[in-house]
Amino acid sequence: MSRRQSRRVLVGKVAIGGGAPVVVQSMTNTDTADAEATARQVFDLARAGSELVRITVNSSEAAAQVAGIRERLDAMGCDVPLVGDFHFNGHKLLTQYPDCAKALAKYRINPGNVGKGAKRDDQFATMIEAALKYGKPVRIGVNWGSLDPELLARMMDENGKCSEPQDADVVMREALIASGLESAAQAVKIGLPAERIVISCKVSGVQDLIGVYRELARRCDYALHLGLTEAGMGSKGIVASSAAMAVLLQEGIGDTIRVSLTPEPNGDRTREVIVAQELLQTMGLRSFTPMVAACPGCGRTTSTYFQELAQRIQDFLRTQMPVWKQSYPGVEEMKVAVMGCVVNGPGESKHADVGISLPGTNESPVAPVYVDGERAVTLKGGRIAEEFQAIVEKYVKDNYAPGSQRRRPARKQEIAIKAIS
Ligand code: SF4
Repeated sequence: MSRRQSRRVLVGKVAIGGGAPVVVQSMTNTDTADAEATARQVFDLARAGSELVRITVNSSEAAAQVAGIRERLDAMGCDVPLVGDFHFNGHKLLTQYPDCAKALAKYRINPGNVGKGAKRDDQFATMIEAALKYGKPVRIGVNWGSLDPELLARMMDENGKCSEPQDADVVMREALIASGLESAAQAVKIGLPAERIVISCKVSGVQDLIGVYRELARRCDYALHLGLTEAGMGSKGIVASSAAMAVLLQEGIGDTIRVSLTPEPNGDRTREVIVAQELLQTMGLRSFTPMVAACPGCGRTTSTYFQELAQRIQDFLRTQMPVWKQSYPGVEEMKVAVMGCVVNGPGESKHADVGISLPGTNESPVAPVYVDGERAVTLKGGRIAEEFQAIVEKYVKDNYAPGSQRRRPARKQEIAIKAIS
């Protein structure tokens, strides 16, 4: 899959665009004025795999805490770059709180919420000048919920005077793109290099997002941040975000993504990071954590045992990853299979690095385990889960520790040679 050529933007140590891997980002939902809670949530998001974390900077109280949040994170050993989200008063906050401006790695500027009338250009320029002064990149983050009303009115007016006017939603899409591109051009004119600009134009409709980004990608080479805004809760939010972003990513469009999920009350904010990672990994664009293939279950297996085992192994792999990714390079590409019966169990298990085929209803109560495609051991009794987990852990140590010989690629090569001959 070829990627769209875009300019590379450096956000702290993280590269966006220019052929760099698609970056996962997320956003806190704590009050930034509460430095302790915000630092804790940023830490959790980064630990889950968020490579950039955006925080709201909406008041003096919030801006005053940003440098302290950065210090707390550094003390926790977390160097994830922080992005400040500015609306309405960003020009004042970036000027009045230089420590905040310095501590942030990027400023998100919403051109629809920068100011009205004659003040708009000045206030926008003040924010760009802060980016220049402190050597920071910016994201021109357009959102259809806060689209620049003067720009939209002007474009609607021009459309109305055409001999063949477009539908209002076509003009709206065009206004989103124009807002992003005109604001970026304005930033460049002030002196900000194009290599310090990321653009996003977020909408909440899947087809609208695809249409807007295709056009944006066609018209510019700025790095693009993808995301469906107000995606919603639970499966609806996940499906809508994945449907929209998968089409664009498949076309090589998108240098960084966020899945904007509404968490359930007291729900885990890190879910949006995991969904973003799974989207990229299932599309074959990046690898973050070993993937577990599990069958859906059917009438051949009436117990929930294999579902529980699949969940247990998935959770085990994910919780180990923060440590494993340091100690076992490449482990994120490992594949594990947990299957419910002998119909597809052995076959799927053989395709995985480590796989287990559990007994279906009325099958002999034994569970063959396959390692690198070969039947290695047969588990039985009441400790199958613990024993299988130990096999997975041993496989990681044997195959991914620095200096160890990785067996699987050799075997795949052998299969490929056999297939050719
Ligand atoms: S592997 Fe067995 S239990 Fe799982 S879906 Fe297929 S037939 Fe059903």
